[in-house]
Amino acid sequence: MFDTLSGKLSGVFEGLSKRGRLSEADVAEAMREVRLAMLDADVALPVVRDFVNKVKEKAVGTEVLESISPGQAVAKIVNDALIEALGGAGNVPLNLAAVAPVPVLMVGLQGSGKTTTSGKIALRLLTRERKRVLLASLDVQRPAAQLQLQQLAERVGVGSLPIIAGQQPVEIARRALETGRREGYDVVILDTAGRLSIDEALMQEVRDVRDATNPVETLLVVDAMTGQDAVNTAQRFNEAVGITGVVMTRMDGDARGGAALSMRAITGAPIKLVGLGEKLEALDDFYPERVAGRILGLGDIAGLVEKASETLDHEESERVAKKMMAGKFDLDDYASQLRQIGKMGSISGIVGMLPGMGKLKEKLGDQDLDTSIFKRHQVIISSMTKDERKTPAIIKASRKKRIAAGSGTTVQEVNKLLKQFDDMSTIMKRISKMGLGGMKQMLSG
Ligand code: GDP
Repeated sequence: MFDTLSGKLSGVFEGLSKRGRLSEADVAEAMREVRLAMLDADVALPVVRDFVNKVKEKAVGTEVLESISPGQAVAKIVNDALIEALGGAGNVPLNLAAVAPVPVLMVGLQGSGKTTTSGKIALRLLTRERKRVLLASLDVQRPAAQLQLQQLAERVGVGSLPIIAGQQPVEIARRALETGRREGYDVVILDTAGRLSIDEALMQEVRDVRDATNPVETLLVVDAMTGQDAVNTAQRFNEAVGITGVVMTRMDGDARGGAALSMRAITGAPIKLVGLGEKLEALDDFYPERVAGRILGLGDIAGLVEKASETLDHEESERVAKKMMAGKFDLDDYASQLRQIGKMGSISGIVGMLPGMGKLKEKLGDQDLDTSIFKRHQVIISSMTKDERKTPAIIKASRKKRIAAGSGTTVQEVNKLLKQFDDMSTIMKRISKMGLGGMKQMLSG
């Protein structure tokens, strides 16, 4: 499970694997790797320092059991500590247990994805919980914003508050709740106005709306791609209006999750949901254990498996899952996976979840990934013989040359594909060793 990091750490611990307990010097060396991984993932420096110190305390003196390497032992401690720092394993769901209509206040900067997220939440409440949702835009600065939300509501199939020109945010919010009550809505989502940056007038407006409506949830929407700025924004909003939860958008991008870690440490509010694309379905529950994996560069197998089971037909995912569990995974399965990934839509959202793909993605734009890597891998695989696909180990130099020539690629690219496949199957073998229990643990915490 702790592939990348434990791989790096095992280098650090090489030669001392016979020792029973980890010494301070051993751990200090390992912590340098952890520090780098975290800074790389855009975690705030003070948070990294604090975290590394805590892990050091735990790791020094740890007995290394025979069955695992010191690298794995430390990686596990780091992983557990990350999950802890992210708020503990498991998702914190939206709290909608109150007398209907339940007011939900959406706050955040302009462009963070607030309006889109309001629509996504409405869709999820409608389809998963059969709730009646009313959307209301309080953005009186930009008349287009109210129209945007109305159109969004129509697309989702939920209600939207009729627009009355000239009404102020607090009046609109009150009218939304009255309408909600009168027309039997379960939830009223209030989409406040955003600004390009935080200013006192904005905060006062949000406070006034809050005081007039008593929201059960005040959800802050932040853009994960803005890294440390997202954390500063969260801190300011939390101090000014108090937030009950965070939605991190654009987690489908290159953001490696560092902002998520700092977020929890700095605001104390749990991240409840993540946005994974522009489509209205692209909203997921937030799981600390998955982001921990992302920070450590392990990929997000659990997320991938879930996404697959949501998108693909059941039989196919069952078949893939069975092969994974049996530790049998060949290049045909890899090719079939690539095809399915194509079907799953947003490639960029999926790629971040694949082990070892994060780095590759940094190098290429999304465009290149769509059109190039996945298709090329499929082409390369289709230039292999059946035996080669079943037993990739037989692919040595001369076969590589033939495959490269046949697929119009290079030996280097064939090597890359084989390495990628190798990384994936190693992780899958580990998962299968953990057995169903381990898999469940990983999925739920
Ligand atoms: P607002 O100004 O905060 O209301 O932002 P919008 O909801 O209008 O979103 C701004 C842009 O970000 C739009 O183009 C959205 O489609 C896009 N967007 C929102 N959430 C996500 C997300 O999770 N991932 C990606 N890739 N784009 C998003």
